[in-house]
Amino acid sequence: MPGVPTGWKLCAANHQLRCGVIALPNGRSRAIFRPFFRELMPIPSIIDASRTERIEFSNDEIARYSRHLIMPEVTLEGQKKLKAAGVLCIGAGGLGSPLLLYLAAAGIGRIGIVDSDAVDFSNLQRQIIHGTKDVGRKKTNSARERIRDINPNTQVDLYDVLFTSENARQIAEPYDIIIDGTDNFQTRYLSNDLCVFTKKPNVYGSIFRFDGQASVFAPHLGGPCYRCMFPEPPPPGMVPTCAEGGVLGVLPGIIGVIQAIEAVKLICGIGETLIGRLVHFEALGLKFREFKLRKDPKCPVCGPNPTITDLIDYDQFCGIPQQRKREEEDANVPHVTVEELKARLDRGDKFRFIDVREPFEWDICRLEKSELIPMAKLPARMSEFDSAEDVILICKNGARSAHAVKMFHEAGFTRVWNVAGGLIDWSDRIDPKLPKY
Ligand SMILES: [Zn+2]
Repeated sequence: MPGVPTGWKLCAANHQLRCGVIALPNGRSRAIFRPFFRELMPIPSIIDASRTERIEFSNDEIARYSRHLIMPEVTLEGQKKLKAAGVLCIGAGGLGSPLLLYLAAAGIGRIGIVDSDAVDFSNLQRQIIHGTKDVGRKKTNSARERIRDINPNTQVDLYDVLFTSENARQIAEPYDIIIDGTDNFQTRYLSNDLCVFTKKPNVYGSIFRFDGQASVFAPHLGGPCYRCMFPEPPPPGMVPTCAEGGVLGVLPGIIGVIQAIEAVKLICGIGETLIGRLVHFEALGLKFREFKLRKDPKCPVCGPNPTITDLIDYDQFCGIPQQRKREEEDANVPHVTVEELKARLDRGDKFRFIDVREPFEWDICRLEKSELIPMAKLPARMSEFDSAEDVILICKNGARSAHAVKMFHEAGFTRVWNVAGGLIDWSDRIDPKLPKY
């Protein structure tokens, strides 16, 4: 039957699928999987041989790592490299969780964790290094406790700070590899530039909704850097964060583990790393795609004539001050506090109370007496409003509704107010029974 797999070629040794065959209409057959015979380009270990000379293992460690030790690609020598190595992970969140767990289990000798956040209920859907009992604790402390349980032989250094141009060099100094597990552009460019300047591989990963991607940036090992791909950050606010756009909880498990695999390969000097390649993963279609990345000869940090030779102000570079200014301007639109809103609702004041969120958000929580008109539908429905009546607009945190207030003002309405802080403030200060999402 055309197009239907008629058989699988299995590797005799371990029954791993190597190649599938489909029948074609002309009676011939075609392999649908690429045969697996491509020679891998082995890379040398980034750990200098002199560093493993004094490394020894206890009997417990020998037992713990036995599945590594019996592989000819790893052996005792590879395990010594893992023990000699230091890996710095920026962020103990979605990507940091799986990669820290696996790196510790694999026997990395020293792990640094940079994170200044505390564990929140909204983290638990994907940040599996933290548990329900850890909500409210520092992420660094929670992560260290879990790592110690997995492998007490790993030294864990905690940096309960933001990773900045001022502290980055000092924090990264003792480590061989930097793994970026954050989801903001300031840290991404900072860790990239730092790794270019200090000649350390930068293991990159990024996730959003159902898609993720990973690569290894290491110009000193012949590959490009992040800036070769993206010389400029997107305008602030253009690319939504996972907090704004959501993320499938399982997705960072895939990308974070790819990052951990790359770190292990770089340390052991085995296989072919993602240097010069970017792997994109799409969960809904379950597809991996690979892209070749080339060094940009005009790259401002890793090119032959660099224009950036030291760490810069990455907040400025990514337009954060301008974004803050815009947010402050938004906060200046006529507004009421949640306390004032409550008083007006309690008094039974006459006003139209509009929630500008999306219907699926409205299903999660809403305030009584509010009326749903999603932001995108407002312009078309503005003619329904009477300019003499008071209108109060609310959203999740007051940002979208502030924009909506501006839209009303531009249309000539004057009696329109924003609820500053939105439903989040209402939950925090008026009624904690209102769920926060
Ligand atoms: Zn570059």
